[in-house]
Amino acid sequence: MDDQSRRCEANQAAAVQALAAGDLAHLAQAFADAGCTVGLPAPGMLQLSPPSAGKQAMRLLLSVGIHGDETAPIEILSRILHDLAQAPGRLAPNLELMLAVGNMDAIAAGRRFVEADLNRMFRDERGDLEGTAEARRADEIMRATAQFFDGGRENWHLDLHTAIRPSHYPAFAVVPDAIPAPAKRALLGCLGAGGIEAAILNSASAGTFSACTAERFGAVSATVELGQIGRFGCNDLERFSAASGMIDAFLTAGVPPSGAPPAVFRVAQQLVKHSADFRMAFDRTTWNFTKMQPGELIAEDGDVVYRVGSEPEYVVFPNPDVRPGLRAGLMVVESDI
Ligand SMILES: [Zn+2]
Repeated sequence: MDDQSRRCEANQAAAVQALAAGDLAHLAQAFADAGCTVGLPAPGMLQLSPPSAGKQAMRLLLSVGIHGDETAPIEILSRILHDLAQAPGRLAPNLELMLAVGNMDAIAAGRRFVEADLNRMFRDERGDLEGTAEARRADEIMRATAQFFDGGRENWHLDLHTAIRPSHYPAFAVVPDAIPAPAKRALLGCLGAGGIEAAILNSASAGTFSACTAERFGAVSATVELGQIGRFGCNDLERFSAASGMIDAFLTAGVPPSGAPPAVFRVAQQLVKHSADFRMAFDRTTWNFTKMQPGELIAEDGDVVYRVGSEPEYVVFPNPDVRPGLRAGLMVVESDI
């Protein structure tokens, strides 16, 4: 490796570390120098508005690190932003951008969360989790988001995650079903352009960030799951080159790119863990999108029994370790838009 590529690699690593820590000052400076209006509305959040962005400019929110151990999206976004900051004029003139690094304390600790799952906090009803660090962080993120998405324009939000388990579809997304059909089609095309092979339409919000931005601000939003959890520096980013290309294309063209839409699924049932007695009929190594046959036992929780309905269902996000009262998994069926 020559000196220049070694320097380049060291810069990349420093950029990842800065983004992971929610330190966006360096990026803010690069875009401010290029004439952008720059805002730092909360720790770990950056807002960029190109000098020529009009009152009708589309707004895009990109969030990463809502779960602290999901490192690949932080590396992907860091690389895209690092390159863009070298040539800030590439940022589309008609696109306003906000970046959000979700849970910096959890990222620093290499854990999914510190006190409670941040991606269940984007709702008013939090019960006894109201006093947690994550509840405060969700409030902070939502205040900045409300200010960014203010007024009736086209708002987009991609919340980038990685799944806990292996998946029959390595890259998939969860899309709030309430998004109107034309926007949903544009979103599915955009996800398809990013190599997302499956999209789950979900009508229940479960307090996730993307459901919240769709419901409160009419955002065209999705939770995007890219591959599996890995440590910083150990992620194979080549696997996500399509997703990375999609985000870069969105940022530089100012409109979502379009590709062949992913396979579409719809939530058939939510598995809610009511008590500590909750037991799943399969083990925790089960892959996402594992197919189950009609009538098969899914889970038991005291008197509550979950079974597959009249058509085959696929298991997604099985996680029996959540707190009672929360979603321990989803069962989905094949669907049209
Ligand atoms: Zn996640």
